[in-house]
Amino acid sequence: MSVTDIRELSAVAAAAEIGAGSLSAGELFSAYRERAAADRVAGPDGLNCFTWVAAGAPLTDVSGPLAGVPLAVKDLFCTEGVPSQSGSRILEGYLPPYTASAVSRLTEAGAALLAKTNQDEFAMGSSNENSAFGPVRNPWDRERVPGGSSGGSAAAVAAGLAPWALGTDTGGSIRQPAALCGIVGLKPTYGAVSRYGMIAFASSLDQAGPLTRDVCDAALLLSHMVGRDARDATSLEFPYAIELPTAERLDGVRLGVPEELTGAGVEPGVLEAFHASIVRAQELGALVSEVRLPHAPHALSAYYVIAPAECSSNLARFDGVRYGMRAEGALELVDMYTRTRHDGFGAEVKRRIMLGTYALSSGYYDAYYGRAQRVRTKIAEDFRSVFGEVDFIVTPTAPTVAFGLGEKTGDPLAMYLNDYCTVPMSLAGIPAISIPCGLSGGLPVGLQIAGPAFCENRLLETAHALELALDFDGTPARV
Ligand code: GLN
Repeated sequence: MSVTDIRELSAVAAAAEIGAGSLSAGELFSAYRERAAADRVAGPDGLNCFTWVAAGAPLTDVSGPLAGVPLAVKDLFCTEGVPSQSGSRILEGYLPPYTASAVSRLTEAGAALLAKTNQDEFAMGSSNENSAFGPVRNPWDRERVPGGSSGGSAAAVAAGLAPWALGTDTGGSIRQPAALCGIVGLKPTYGAVSRYGMIAFASSLDQAGPLTRDVCDAALLLSHMVGRDARDATSLEFPYAIELPTAERLDGVRLGVPEELTGAGVEPGVLEAFHASIVRAQELGALVSEVRLPHAPHALSAYYVIAPAECSSNLARFDGVRYGMRAEGALELVDMYTRTRHDGFGAEVKRRIMLGTYALSSGYYDAYYGRAQRVRTKIAEDFRSVFGEVDFIVTPTAPTVAFGLGEKTGDPLAMYLNDYCTVPMSLAGIPAISIPCGLSGGLPVGLQIAGPAFCENRLLETAHALELALDFDGTPARV
């Protein structure tokens, strides 16, 4: 098999070839390692997907279900002895003494750590332009962003520099970059995957999940990540085994289209691709109806109180004493803290720490944080009542296709609007997947499908049937 052919295989297919003895895990690893290392060396002249690439193949159990298939992992997953910096100057060179549970479960199942991927600093962003290690480029058009915050993972998978990757999603950071790069991204039910060893952004929202070329790969990766972990008190036993989906029809599947997330804020080319995929779903037998999520328009406002509030608390630990960098030349302790945080954090992180600290200060706590939490409850109730009428909700994943590098960096509010369609599901803790559903102006459009907590198997089946029917061609992004 030629190196190009090897890189054409999906992860499921590659694992099968290795199992059958027609491909060696070492050959597969080198095919990817070589390309990933070249991108790393090219820095800003390449896609800048990676913050670290393995020097050689690690020792893995190729008889395990993941058969030695290489895996790229977002920078914020702690990996023992490997730089884990969450895209931040303040953690530059930090080598954790332990590995995140999501990653160790996958390596125990036979995945081989290929690389760490570039990301927005502490996962705050929608364009991957907030990374201390420079922006990532979108392989469909290098002058455009890949989305964020898991932009390095999305670009690497879309470009064929990794068979699959891990990302995290707090308000959309798996689904939105998957949409902008034309790949599949799945945010699982909150608690399905352990957060142990993930450098925290907003703990009540953060979830790890797969970014893959197709829905079967997402199912395979997820199946080895889920489950209760004694080291994360919010993790849960997954109620059943995740299976590889096989559905080709959607007979009787009830899809709800919420008018609040499919209206004026969404660009016409995206809406066109979205509506065309709804028609395809109907041809497969799905029953489509309009539903209402009356509180969804308030989701972004609630999110941008809750997430900064939690991050202001989580990021208090970066003080120059325990991890990463310490500023030079301080006169005394408080001066050392101040200089370290001043030099170590980027502008967006500082903005959120200030917003969150303000929202949590006594006298304002109820007016902001308390109220945002009440809105969150209303949003979860909206979903609960809609899932009495339909099986899934479908929306565009992001309101626009990939936008130009630098286009929105000066306007944080315009940047925050990217998450308009993804944040409601995050606040409700429910699973949602983005699959590529077409092109607008030559750039990929994502379709988001969301369902009730722990519906992952049914969600994957539905996404699989639609993926087959939509037959999206991702090859223009391969490098
Ligand atoms: N773009 C959103 C934010 O900046 C979501 C990020 C995420 O999901 N990690 O907060």
